[in-house]
Amino acid sequence: MKSQPSEPGPDSVSRDPAAAGAGTEAPPSPLRALAEPVQGRLAVAVALQAVAALAGVVPFIAVSRIAGRLTGGSPAGGDVLWPLVTLACVAGLLALACGTAAGALAHLADNELQLTLRRRLARHIGRLPLGRLTDKGTGEVKQAVQDDVSALHTLFAHTLLDVVAVLTAPLLALAYLFTVDWRLALVSVVPLLLGVFLFSRAMAGAVAQMAEFGAALGRISAAAVEFAAGIAVFKSFGRGRKAHERFVGATEGFADFFSGWVRATLVTSTAAVLVVAPAVVLLLLSVVGAVFVTSGWTTGAELVPFLLLGPAVAAPMGVVGPRIQQIRAGQAAAVRITALLHTPTLTEPATPAVPDGHQVSLRGVSFSYDGHTDVLRDVDLDLAPGTVTALVGPSGSGKSTLASLLPRFHDVSAGKVTLGGVDLRDIPATELYRRVGFVLQDVRLLRASVADNIRLGRPDATDEEVERCARAARIHDRVLDLPDGYATELGTAVTLSGGEAQRLSIARALLADAPVLVLDEATAYADPHSEALIQDALSALAAGRTLLVIAHRLSTIRSADRIVVLEDGRITEQGRHDELLAARGRYATLWEAQRTAQPDRTDGDPGRPPAPTAVARAADDIREGSAR
Ligand code: ADP
Repeated sequence: MKSQPSEPGPDSVSRDPAAAGAGTEAPPSPLRALAEPVQGRLAVAVALQAVAALAGVVPFIAVSRIAGRLTGGSPAGGDVLWPLVTLACVAGLLALACGTAAGALAHLADNELQLTLRRRLARHIGRLPLGRLTDKGTGEVKQAVQDDVSALHTLFAHTLLDVVAVLTAPLLALAYLFTVDWRLALVSVVPLLLGVFLFSRAMAGAVAQMAEFGAALGRISAAAVEFAAGIAVFKSFGRGRKAHERFVGATEGFADFFSGWVRATLVTSTAAVLVVAPAVVLLLLSVVGAVFVTSGWTTGAELVPFLLLGPAVAAPMGVVGPRIQQIRAGQAAAVRITALLHTPTLTEPATPAVPDGHQVSLRGVSFSYDGHTDVLRDVDLDLAPGTVTALVGPSGSGKSTLASLLPRFHDVSAGKVTLGGVDLRDIPATELYRRVGFVLQDVRLLRASVADNIRLGRPDATDEEVERCARAARIHDRVLDLPDGYATELGTAVTLSGGEAQRLSIARALLADAPVLVLDEATAYADPHSEALIQDALSALAAGRTLLVIAHRLSTIRSADRIVVLEDGRITEQGRHDELLAARGRYATLWEAQRTAQPDRTDGDPGRPPAPTAVARAADDIREGSAR
C-alpha cells in the first residue's frame, strides 16, 4: 500500500469553501489535485486504452483490405490474405488485452483513490470542530464521503477511458479512409460536422437553462421538505389541501419549464442524434459511394472500408452528451470534497498543558461564525468550581454560542477561554473532554447497544456502573422494558423518544463524570411525565459539578449562584435572582414577561413557592455539601 499523501494545512487555503472551488489563486484544478496520488497509473491506463482503441480499428482495416483483394479482380492467394488475417487477429487480441488492462488499472487506481480520499476525509472530519458537525454539516459530510467519492469513481474508472476510446479510434479510421479516397473521406466527415453544428445549436443557452433546471429542482426539494414538515400542522387545522399547494405549484412550474425547454430543442437535438446514427451514416455512404462507383470515380473494393469504418467516424457525437454530464458531475464533486478537506480543523496544542483545577474563565472573548459579525463581544466570565451559573437572555442573544465555547465546539475569535488556568487550545482534546461534559437538546445516539451508548465517555466502565448511572438518570426502567435490555441495539429495531434519548445522554454524562458541565435545560419537547424525569436526572447530574446552564425558563434557575444576562452577545447584567429582581433591569423584565406568559411555570402566585427544579435542587445540593 502506498503511503498516504500529506494533508494540506488548513491555513494554506481559503477559509471560504466557495472560494476554494472558484480557484481565485489559480491552483491546479481540484480534480487534478485529488487525482494526483494515482495520476501515474491513470496515465498508463489512458495510454493502454488509446492503444486498445487504435488496435480495435485495425481488424476493420484488414478486413476491408481482404475484401478489396477478393473483389478487386486480381487473384488473391493465401500468401496475400494470411498476413492480413494474422494482422486482424493479433490486433484484435491486442485491443482486447490492452482494453482489459486499461479497465483493470483504472479501477485499481480509482480503488486506491477512493480509499485514500475516504481516509483523508475521515481523518479530517474527525478533527473538525464539533460545532461544524451540525445537521447541515453532517449532510455535507455524507455527500462528500459517499456521493462525491462515487462520482469520482464514475469519472476516473469509466468516463475517462470512454472518452479516450471515442476520440482515438475515429481519428485512425479517418486517417486510413483519407489514404483510400479523400473525396469519400470528406463525405464521411459530413455527418460529424453536421452533428457538432446541430448539437451546439441544441445546447445553446444550456448553461442558463441548466441553472434554471437546478433552481426549479431546488424549489421542488424545498417545497417537499416544507410539505413533509408542515403537513401535520396544516391538517390539524383542517387545511390539508393548503399543505401541498406550494409543492404542487413547484412541481407544475418544473414540468412547464422542462417541457418548454424540451420543445424548444427537440427538433435540433433529435436531428443531432439522427445524423450521426450509424445506420444514417451507412445509408449516406452507400448512396454517395454507389454514385462514385457507377460514375467510375472509385472502385467497389475501395468503397468497402468506408462502409466498414465510416459509421465509426461520427459515433463519438452520440455519446458526448452523457460524458460531458459525468465530467461536470466529477468536477463539482471534486470541488465539494476539496472544500471539506480545506475546512479548518481544531489545532492540537504544540506544547500540551494540563489544567490545574477546574476554574473556568472567559477573558475578552469575542466570537463570530462568519468572520464578520460578532455574535459574542468582549465577554468576561468566571465559573468557580462547584457553582451553578445560568445564562439567560432573549433568543439569539448568544447563550448557546457562549456555552459551546467551553467544550470547544468552536474556537474564540478573540480573547481566551481557560480551564484550570490553561487556554483550552493548549489542552489536548482527550484531556479536555475528560474535564468538560455537555448535555444538549440535540441528542445524538450511536447505532450501538444501549450500554455502549452510555459507556461512550468511559468505555472501561463495568455493567454495574452503567446501571447505576442509568438509574440516576431515570432511564433504567425503560431500558429493562426494551427487548434485550442493555444489549438492545438502538437505531435499528428500537428508537427512543426525545425525552428518553435525553435521559440516556444524561446517563452517559454521569458515567463520564466530567467535573465541568454545560447543559441545555430545555425540555420543551418532553411531555410532563418525561420532563419530571429529566429534571430528576439533571439534578443527579448537576450535583457537585461546575455547571453552566442555558436557561430557557427562568423558574428553573432561581437558585443559581449566578445568573448572567446576555443581550446581543454582551453580558449586560449578572448576579443572584433576588439581586437582579431588585435591580429592576433586563432580568426583572424577562422574569415578569415569563411569569405573565407561564403562570404555572414561574410562581404566578407570589405567595406560592416555586416547584423545585433540577438546577434549583442541584444548586441547593452543592451549597449544602451533599454532593458526591
Ligand atoms: P441563543 O442561544 O441565545 O438563542 P445563539 O447562540 O443560538 O443564541 O445565536 C446567537 C446568534 O448566532 C444568532 O444571531 C444566530 O443566528 C447565530 N448563530 C447561531 N448558530 C449559528 C451557526 N451555526 N452559524 C451561523 N450563525 C449562527
